[in-house]
Amino acid sequence: MRKCRLTGRIVTPGNPEYDLAREEFNTRYDLFPSVINFCTTAKDVANAICWARERKVKFRIRTGRHSYEAYSSLDGGLVIDISEMNKIKVNHKTKTARLGAGSLLLPLYERLYEEGYTIPGGTCPSVGLSGLTLGGGWGMLTRPYGMLIDQLIGLEMVDAKGNIITANREKNADLFWASRGGGGGNFGVVTSFLFHVIPVDRVATLNITWDRKGFEPVVMAWQNWAPFTDIRLTAIIDLLTKEKGEIRALGEFTGTALELWRIVQPLIDAYPPKKIEIKNVSYIDAVKMFGGRMPGMEEYSVNHGDPDAHPFKNTGAFAKMLLPPKGIKILKDFLSKSPSSENKVQLQALAGRAGEVSPTGTAYVHRKALFSLLYITKWENEREANVNTKWVERLRNSLLPYADGAYVNFHDNCIKDWLEQCYFENLPRLIEVKTKYDPENLFNFPLGIPTANKL
Ligand SMILES: Cc1cc2nc3c(=O)[nH]c(=O)nc-3n(C[C@H](O)[C@H](O)[C@H](O)COP(=O)(O)OP(=O)(O)OC[C@H]3O[C@@H](n4cnc5c(N)ncnc54)[C@H](O)[C@@H]3O)c2cc1C
Repeated sequence: MRKCRLTGRIVTPGNPEYDLAREEFNTRYDLFPSVINFCTTAKDVANAICWARERKVKFRIRTGRHSYEAYSSLDGGLVIDISEMNKIKVNHKTKTARLGAGSLLLPLYERLYEEGYTIPGGTCPSVGLSGLTLGGGWGMLTRPYGMLIDQLIGLEMVDAKGNIITANREKNADLFWASRGGGGGNFGVVTSFLFHVIPVDRVATLNITWDRKGFEPVVMAWQNWAPFTDIRLTAIIDLLTKEKGEIRALGEFTGTALELWRIVQPLIDAYPPKKIEIKNVSYIDAVKMFGGRMPGMEEYSVNHGDPDAHPFKNTGAFAKMLLPPKGIKILKDFLSKSPSSENKVQLQALAGRAGEVSPTGTAYVHRKALFSLLYITKWENEREANVNTKWVERLRNSLLPYADGAYVNFHDNCIKDWLEQCYFENLPRLIEVKTKYDPENLFNFPLGIPTANKL
């Protein structure tokens, strides 16, 4: 007799909420799960795992729905959604916070800011804390405070047997190591995280725009500067298409605008900018600016649909050395012949504190990278999907001599040696941990870490 039943909120086909409940951020994927289970306690999650195991039903784990390949959903199985597990409890004495693993970034930053703190997470307002953290997590505070996992103290997880376990430096230390960069969906369902939190108040922001004519000198100057400059500054640069005709550098600095003016001088000297904006702002205004949430914009709530959801194919790589002029030319040529004017390449400065941990110190291996490259496509009509997908994959392949590796948080099913590119020397240890905690490979998806016996 079957003994497991689903608890928590259940949404099934035919339910009026079903279409919103099944939508992924990448609307290129139109998936139809047979059950979506919104869990509110770790016990709900354990029940869901027991239910799926008993019935041999395939399932996926979901928080912010931002997997590039929509691997937090599936056709015809169970989605275990933990986005309603989003309680936040700050301990001012220890400067730590217990964060519900279902938290989404903007509401989380807002709540922490009310208490005077933040964590060094990503920029997109609706990315989920779980996926972001488990893959490593970078954003606009990465150089002064490291990857998001560098502030992680421990986590609570429901494992393959439905047990609620903790992982930290003392307990299940191997699982804790693997959960810092091994990626979501591999070992169990995380239900809460314990983080160090960082006191914040005001920051200075940077926004410089150049005409595309300055492409080569600006990119060269940016890469010579952004990973090496004052550690309090984290910078990104957006390289837009020929039609858009611009380059934009953005940055967040945990000092004053006056100091920032001096620090950005090498970039300003590289080529005359069209516009320079450097200002002191409250930390939360900086978060909204980098997240593209301007005053008066629609409020975000995943249960009312994500206003930013759209079809896309993105991928990325890491630069461990500076791009030579030949590499910069490849970038420019691709952006000159882009099939969509909305496509772009974003470079994100790393190094700083993120580079101070050894590549084997956590499962996130790319510690020696100077910056990451994010290759972005976007389109309106499905018939444009193929040409843009080909463009982005050709771009990544063309730049492989200068930038390789893959970020587990940028799922890309076109990368043939995905596991090797994501984890390099950490892959054997990750397979060991996977085999120990999930020997039956219950938690699986196309780019997941295999168990040793599945190799
Ligand atoms: C628009 C956009 C902006 C982004 N910006 C950044 C950025 O600034 N910095 C950065 O580092 N990354 C960024 N990313 C990448 C992002 O970190 C990953 O897509 C991340 O995996 C998303 O997590 P999620 O919870 O939103 O997604 P989901 O699709 O819900 O989950 C992603 C993966 O994690 C698994 N998972 C989800 N919840 C859990 C859980 N509780 N326990 C175990 N496994 C779980 C899922 O099964 C899936 O495999 C961005 C992505 C997008 C689309």
